[in-house]
Amino acid sequence: MNMMIQIASPELTLLVPVKDEEAAIPAFLATVMPILEALDDPAGKSFEILFIDDGSSDATLTLIRDAAARDPRVRGLSLSRNFGKEAALTAGIDHARGKAVIPYDVDMQDPPSALAPMLAKWREGHEVVVGVREDRKSDGMLKRWTASAYYRTHNALSKDKILEHAGDFRLLDRKVVDVIKALPERNRFMKGLFGWAGFKTATVTYAREERENGTTKFGFWKLWTLALDGITSASTVPLRVWSYVGGLVALGTLAYATLIVIRTLVTGVDVPGYASIMVAVLFLGSVQLISLGILGEYVGRILTETKQRPLYVVAEKIGDRE
Ligand code: UDP
Ligand code: MG
Repeated sequence: MNMMIQIASPELTLLVPVKDEEAAIPAFLATVMPILEALDDPAGKSFEILFIDDGSSDATLTLIRDAAARDPRVRGLSLSRNFGKEAALTAGIDHARGKAVIPYDVDMQDPPSALAPMLAKWREGHEVVVGVREDRKSDGMLKRWTASAYYRTHNALSKDKILEHAGDFRLLDRKVVDVIKALPERNRFMKGLFGWAGFKTATVTYAREERENGTTKFGFWKLWTLALDGITSASTVPLRVWSYVGGLVALGTLAYATLIVIRTLVTGVDVPGYASIMVAVLFLGSVQLISLGILGEYVGRILTETKQRPLYVVAEKIGDRE
C-alpha cells in the first residue's frame, strides 16, 4: 500500500478525460507518474490525477478504480453516460482541487515533457500557460486543412480569438478555473471559454506526437459539430450577415427589374425568360434556406440553454477520501 495521504488542495491537478481508453491508461500512468514525481517544483510532491470516465464501455473504469486504490493521488469521476469531451472537461474543472489545473489527453500526444515548462511559467506569474504545437505533422492533410480553415473563420467572426495550433492542453491557475466554473452556459466549447476568461497568458511550444495506444474519438462529424458550437457560442455574425445579403440581393433585383421594365417598354413584350426566372427563384430559395438553417442553429442552442439541464451526471466518485 502506498503510504502517501491525499492532499486536500494539491498544487496541481492533471485533468484527464477518458472514453474507452483501456489501451492507453496503463502506459499513461507508467509514463506520467514518474515525470510528475521528478518535477523540480512543489507540484512534484503535491499533485492529483483526476480521471473523468466519460461513459466508457470497456475496462477503463476498472483501471481507474484499481489505480485509485493503489495510489491516493489518483481520483476519478464516472459520468453516467457519454457526455462528450467538453462536458467531461467541465466535470473535471468542477471537481479539481489543484491550485493549477492542466487538462491532459490520456494518449499523451501532447508530450508530458511540456508539463515542467508550463509549471515554470506559472511560477513566474502567468495565470494561463497554453500548449502550442510546433506544427501539425501528426495530423493528416485533410485535418490540417480543415483545422486551419476553422481557426481562420472563427477568428474572423469572433471578438474572442482562439490561438491556432493550441488544444485544451494548457495550465489554468485556480483563479481562471473559478471563473470557468462560474460560467452558466450549456454550450461548452472549452477552448473558447478558456480564451474568453483572459488573464496573463504565456505559451509553451512542443511537437505533437501520433497517438500510440487506442484510436481517435473524433471523427469528421464530431469535429464539425464542435466547430459549429465554437462559432455559434462566440459570434453572432452568422446571424446578422443575412440582413446585408438580403439588402444586396434586393439592390441587384431593383436594378434588374428596372432594366426589364425599360426593355419591355422599348422593345415590347418579351415572353421567353424561363432561364432567368428559374435562376432567380432557385437562388433566392437557397439563400433563404441557408439563412433559416443558421437561424435554426442558434435557436436550437437557445433551447438547450433554457432547459437548464445539468451538463453532466456523476454516477460515481472514485478515490475521494475526505
Ligand atoms: N474523450 C472523452 N469523451 C469523448 C471523446 C474523447 O473524454 O466523448 C477523451 C479521450 O479519451 C482522450 C481525449 O478526450 O483522452 C482526446 O481524444 P482523442 O485523442 O481521441 O482526440 P484527438 O487527439 O484525436 O483530437
Ligand atoms: Mg489524441
